[in-house]
Amino acid sequence: MNPNIEELSVFCKKKGFVYPSSEIYGGMSGFFDYGPLGVELKNNIKAEWWKTHVQQRDDIVGIDGTIITNPKIWEASGHVSSFTDAILECSKCKNKTRADHFIEDKLKIDTAGLPLQQIDEIIRHHKLKCGKCGSTFNESTGFNLMFKTNVGPAEGSTAYLRPETAQVIFADFKQVTDTSRVRLPFGIAQIGKAFRNEISPRDFLFRCREFEQMEIEYFIRPDQTGKCPYVDEVMDYELSIYSAEMQEKKKEPKAMTIREALENRIIKTPWHAYWLSHEHKWFMSLGMNPAHLRMRQHLDEEKSHYALDTWDLEYKFPFGWKELQGMANRTDFDLKQHIKHSGKDLSYFDEETKSKVVPHVVVEPSQGVERAFLAFLAEAFHDDKERGNIVLKLHPKLAPYKVALFPLVSNKPELTKKAREIYEPLKKELNIYWDSSGSIGRRYARADEIGVPACITVDFQTIEDSTVTIRDRDTTKQRRVKAGDIKDELRRIVN
Ligand code: ATP
Repeated sequence: MNPNIEELSVFCKKKGFVYPSSEIYGGMSGFFDYGPLGVELKNNIKAEWWKTHVQQRDDIVGIDGTIITNPKIWEASGHVSSFTDAILECSKCKNKTRADHFIEDKLKIDTAGLPLQQIDEIIRHHKLKCGKCGSTFNESTGFNLMFKTNVGPAEGSTAYLRPETAQVIFADFKQVTDTSRVRLPFGIAQIGKAFRNEISPRDFLFRCREFEQMEIEYFIRPDQTGKCPYVDEVMDYELSIYSAEMQEKKKEPKAMTIREALENRIIKTPWHAYWLSHEHKWFMSLGMNPAHLRMRQHLDEEKSHYALDTWDLEYKFPFGWKELQGMANRTDFDLKQHIKHSGKDLSYFDEETKSKVVPHVVVEPSQGVERAFLAFLAEAFHDDKERGNIVLKLHPKLAPYKVALFPLVSNKPELTKKAREIYEPLKKELNIYWDSSGSIGRRYARADEIGVPACITVDFQTIEDSTVTIRDRDTTKQRRVKAGDIKDELRRIVN
C-alpha cells in the first residue's frame, strides 16, 4: 500500500517523526529535523545496518570520520572539479532549475550526467521554455553541489562539508590496514552525515541538502575479481533485474536467479551479484515487499567515468521507481587518486601473494538513511478503513516503541500499582511506553498509528492470577499470557 508523499509528510509531522527544520523562522528547503519517534526509527535503521554489515561479519570494520576534512581530499576525488549538476537559468526572470529534473518532467527522459552542450541541444530541439514565465533559457551551466565553509579565524581557509562519506574511508585506508587485522578481501564501513547543495530539493526526505549515508568500500586484490567466497550463498536468490540492455530495448524488468544473471553475463562479477543480493535481503529482512524492489543497471552514459559497472537498488516510491541505494564497482580509481595527490604510499602488502597491491573497490554499497527511512515508512503505512485509523506496520526491529502498556482503567490504585510492577522492569530492557489516558480503544489506535507491535493490558484478572493480555498490532488478536512470560513473548515478537 503506497500512500502519496504529501500524505506521508503530513503524517510524519503530525506524529512527531519528521519536522521541517527551523520552521518557526520559515524553515529551510531540504533540511529536516527528526522528532521523538523519527529519531528512534532512524537510530533503529542505522543500528540494524551496522549490526548486519559490520558487527556480524568478520570481513568488515567500521570508522567514523569527520565532516570537514582537508579540502585536498575533494580535489583528489574529483568533487571540486566535477561534482556538478547542470542548471538552467531563465533569460528573463532568472529562475534557476535543475536541468535533468526539468527535462525529465517535460519529456520523461533521463539526462543525468549528460554534457552541458547536449542538454542545451535537447532544450533547443524541444523548444523547452521557463516554467515560470515562458521565456527561453540561457546556456546551461554547471553548479557544484558542495557546501563551502571557512576554517580558522577571520576568513580562514576554504573547506567543504563532505558530500559523501566514502572519500573519508579512502583517506583513512592506510590507518585502518595498519591498525586492524583486516586481510583482503575486506570492507570498511561508515555511517554519517553528508551535505549536498541540491538545486531543487524535493519529494520530502528523498532529496535533502543534509542527510546521512551508510556506506561500505569493499576492497579486493585485483586478481580476486572473479572469486567471491560468498556467492554460493546467493546463487538461487531471485531478484527483479532491469539491465542496461532491457532498458535500451524497452523491455520490462525480469525476475531471475543470481545463477541466471551470472551465467548470462548480465551481472558481471560474482562480487556484484553477492552484494546486490545481500542488500536486497537486508531490506527484505526488515519487512520490505519484494514487488517494490528492483535492481537497475546504469546505462553507459549515466556511469561515472571510473565506474566499471553500477547497479541501483530501486524502490517503488510514491512518486515512481527511484534510487534507494547505489552499488558501483569503483576499481582502484579512488586509492590511486589519493596516492597521486597526497604523495603517500597507500598500497597494501598482501601476505598470501607476498606482493604489494593497490586494492580495487569491487563494490561500494552506498545507502542513504533518509531514503531507507522513507521507503520503510511508505511500506508500513496502512490507512485501515475498518479500524478508522492509520496502522503503521513497521517491522518490530524498526518500530520506535516495541510495546505499550496500559492499565485497563486509570482510577483504580491497585490496578495502577500492579501495572507499574510489570512496566518498570520491562522499561529497562525495551523501549516501552505507558498510556493510561482515554478509552482502551483509543489507546490501541494511538499505538497502531505509531507502529507499536504489541500492547499489553493489565486488567482486574491480572490482580488475581498475574496474567495480562497481549494484543498484536497487525491482526488485533489478543492472547492472555503470564506476566512472568512477557519478556520471552516480547523477545519473540521483536526478533
Ligand atoms: P541521485 O541520482 O538520486 O541524486 P546519486 O546517484 O547522486 O543520487 P549517490 O551519490 O550514489 O547518489 O549517493 C548514494 C546514496 O546516498 C543514494 O543512493 C541515496 O540513497 C543517498 N543520497 C544521495 N543524495 C541524497 C540526497 N540529496 N538526499 C537524500 N539522500 C541522498
